[in-house]
Amino acid sequence: MDGPEEIHDKLRRNHGGRGSWRMVDAGVRRLKEAGAEVSLSMVLGQHNLDHAEDVIGWFLDEYQPTGLGVNFMKPPTPDQADYDQLIGADAYADRMYGIHKAFRDRGLFLELVYRKLAPFVEQRYRFHDCGAAGGTNLNVDAKGNVGPCKSFLVMDRLAMRTLDIDEYRSAVVSEWRKRSPIYYRHCDGCSARAMCGNGCAYDAMIHSGDEMAIDVRSCQYTRRFNRLFIEDLFQQIRPSGHIAARWWHIPDRSERQRLMGAVSARPRTLSYSIGHQTLD
Ligand code: SF4
Repeated sequence: MDGPEEIHDKLRRNHGGRGSWRMVDAGVRRLKEAGAEVSLSMVLGQHNLDHAEDVIGWFLDEYQPTGLGVNFMKPPTPDQADYDQLIGADAYADRMYGIHKAFRDRGLFLELVYRKLAPFVEQRYRFHDCGAAGGTNLNVDAKGNVGPCKSFLVMDRLAMRTLDIDEYRSAVVSEWRKRSPIYYRHCDGCSARAMCGNGCAYDAMIHSGDEMAIDVRSCQYTRRFNRLFIEDLFQQIRPSGHIAARWWHIPDRSERQRLMGAVSARPRTLSYSIGHQTLD
């Protein structure tokens, strides 16, 4: 759901031109009536970027989700690389981190920020950005085809009619695991390397024709996130008043933890990310 009806239905219409908001709203309410803990997934694009904070505040009041996936808009099809609703990578990171800071003490789990922030705070390596590259995802489409990535399934690529797990391991898992930044010279010296995971194979393929390439848009917003995290951490730990030119400080775990706020996301629930948990 990308926002209230008038925002959501700008882009999400069926082939007959009818918006899908009412169906999504009814589905979420039905889940809540049945006692399910709900999470919402939205895509940030030109249609809602300027209203993102208001939309998220409205989601919290209206549906009380415990998790929120706010996704960076991808080109809808491979031949729409210049889709006019796409947004810039820096604008996305700035807006997302602003939202995280505004809502982190209300317990909201903002999945994509968390995905980058957790390795930064916990000082651990995140080798892959999604379970498709990490080898932990299996998607099944409506025709029964199986593959690592739903975007590739839609294109009928890497779509297996029957699942042969040995073939899957050798053709997909061992190949896609090489998408990690640890293998790329491009990433040498990058301060965001341990929190990156090299984005999305679909986006890499759209922008460079090669699913094994660097995802350049993810690269840009990940570097921006890294800078925003460091700036935020500095603000959390800086001494008050004048700072001496030779002042330095190594933040400890609890100081880093302040960046997370009150979020206590629970892995393997519906409020967590389904596609982006990896074994890293
Ligand atoms: S942010 Fe870019 S350069 Fe840095 S590790 Fe990720 S893909 Fe490599």
